[in-house]
Amino acid sequence: MRRRKFIYHTALVSGGLLALPNLGFAFTNDFKEGPFDLPKLPYAYDALEPFIDEQTMRIHHGKHFQGYTDNLNKAIEGTGFLKMPIEDILKNIKPTDTAIRNNGGGYYNHDLFFASLSPDPKKIPTGKLMDVILRDFGSYNAFQNQLSQAALSVFGSGWAWLTVNQDGLLFITSTHNQDNPLMSFSSNSGIPLIGIDVWEHAYYLKYQNKRKDYVDAFFNVLDWKHAEEIYDNL
Ligand code: MN
Repeated sequence: MRRRKFIYHTALVSGGLLALPNLGFAFTNDFKEGPFDLPKLPYAYDALEPFIDEQTMRIHHGKHFQGYTDNLNKAIEGTGFLKMPIEDILKNIKPTDTAIRNNGGGYYNHDLFFASLSPDPKKIPTGKLMDVILRDFGSYNAFQNQLSQAALSVFGSGWAWLTVNQDGLLFITSTHNQDNPLMSFSSNSGIPLIGIDVWEHAYYLKYQNKRKDYVDAFFNVLDWKHAEEIYDNL
């Protein structure tokens, strides 16, 4: 079982000091400072077949995620960000820190994405997280439809998110490129519980232009255990 640490600290967000949980998502170098390693997949490249194909997984994890990792390490070298966990880096960068924004976002987002998938997923949440999904969306189907719609509505490359805000409310949002809701300049900030990668590199080999088929397939390998673990430790 992967161990995660959740340490409250303060971060400068939207002009004020807010207490935000410091989440350690990385599944091999948990809560580690840079330089960062590529987290190993906790399942085989072909384990998510037929929903996500082996070749896509090999390239997505072995090339794209590796690239974000390497370029993040280059970007933080010799800066004050080197000795920060990735969550703190994302909370503290400015919009103009382009290389760290793109590659740090890419690192964090893919860590969450791959850790949220499983060949043996828990397909429906239970417990506290399910309670707030029902409270904030009305039904599980309404939630899934909203997240799917957000994923389908991203124009170009980006992500759709299930996020919890500082008041504990769940909301769906989307971001472009490798931005995510932890970034203080995000229009809807909070802590991501689930992220759907809708860059074409995530699905094009198998699904081509049929993003909806990929999003539907995503829900077949989405393991709610991971989101529940994040939520339960907030
Ligand atoms: Mn990706």
